[in-house]
Amino acid sequence: MDLLAKLCNAPGVSGFEGEAQDIAYEELKACSDKIWKDRLGNVIAVKYAASGRRIQEADGSERAIRLLYSAHIDEIGMMVSHIDDEGFLRFRAIGGLDPRTLVSERVVVHGTRAKPQKLKGVIAPQSGWLGSPEDRQRVFPISELYIDLALPSAEVHEAVEVGDVITLAAEFSSLNDRVVVGRNFDDRMGVYCLIEAMKRLHDPQVDVYAVSSVQEEVGVRGIPTAANVIAPDIAVAIDGSLPSDTPYARSEERQCKLGGGTGIYLMDNRTIGNPQILRGLFSTCEKHGIAYQRNLGGGTDASEIQRRGLGALATTIGAPTRYMHSTVQLCHLDDIEATIRLLSTFPNEAANILPSDWI
Ligand SMILES: [Zn+2]
Repeated sequence: MDLLAKLCNAPGVSGFEGEAQDIAYEELKACSDKIWKDRLGNVIAVKYAASGRRIQEADGSERAIRLLYSAHIDEIGMMVSHIDDEGFLRFRAIGGLDPRTLVSERVVVHGTRAKPQKLKGVIAPQSGWLGSPEDRQRVFPISELYIDLALPSAEVHEAVEVGDVITLAAEFSSLNDRVVVGRNFDDRMGVYCLIEAMKRLHDPQVDVYAVSSVQEEVGVRGIPTAANVIAPDIAVAIDGSLPSDTPYARSEERQCKLGGGTGIYLMDNRTIGNPQILRGLFSTCEKHGIAYQRNLGGGTDASEIQRRGLGALATTIGAPTRYMHSTVQLCHLDDIEATIRLLSTFPNEAANILPSDWI
């Protein structure tokens, strides 16, 4: 839990993942045979196969099967686009921010002008005595919202520059003894599961690569370079499943439940879960008594990994995450544990899912 809190509280907006990625690097380094960072900022760690099935390459050489796990370290956030004469900040979204969730949020502006410094601010609500009656009914688009740092204008202009990054400030906490709340379980939950699974992995039958990827939230831009280098045979992205056991979801829209086990993606907007992988994941869960549920999701790193090089069998798993892309994302600790257990047991089943003539 300490590591989950530490990962969640570190800023890491898409393209500016450094602080959060440093934590992932140190944790993965301690439990891998080799680790490196690529030019985009992806952290790539590997634990080599101790034994297991070998594959013959076209040139006759042999190698272990390569399994890739990927979870994205980046979170959605904002960038300063304008500083007005009174010191109020306008901003652009980085990733899929929903303006309905932004008003009255606390933020941290990462000022770079004089020196690196973190300035606290709020996204201002329009007070009830201002504006028109229609304003009280409508959602203000991001272009109309502003950040108030409550500092004299001159101080803001000295500290903040157009292009400075803004993170939502909500910190990790427990809602009760089973459920935790945070602003970025999409996908720090995934990175946490990735790290914990690598720690529990001993003598795998396949080479297991763990990537803490960047820039997923802005269109899966980070993982392709890592996947190109690894050229995996099998890949599992780890990302939030969609729990819809809430009043906003109609009964026919309901799939995963919070606390019902890890979600296994059958299909999402960009990937059709490979049937062999799905069978392998289901049977691993059944063999080890791991709770799982079937999920239909949005889009993840799996979409880009599956079509690199010769192609990889791919899908996504992950703890259901309620209220994704808000600052009150909820995860159940049992679902997180189920995800870690599936990731740490699957490598020894993975070799069996490939056809015998796989090259
Ligand atoms: Zn995600």
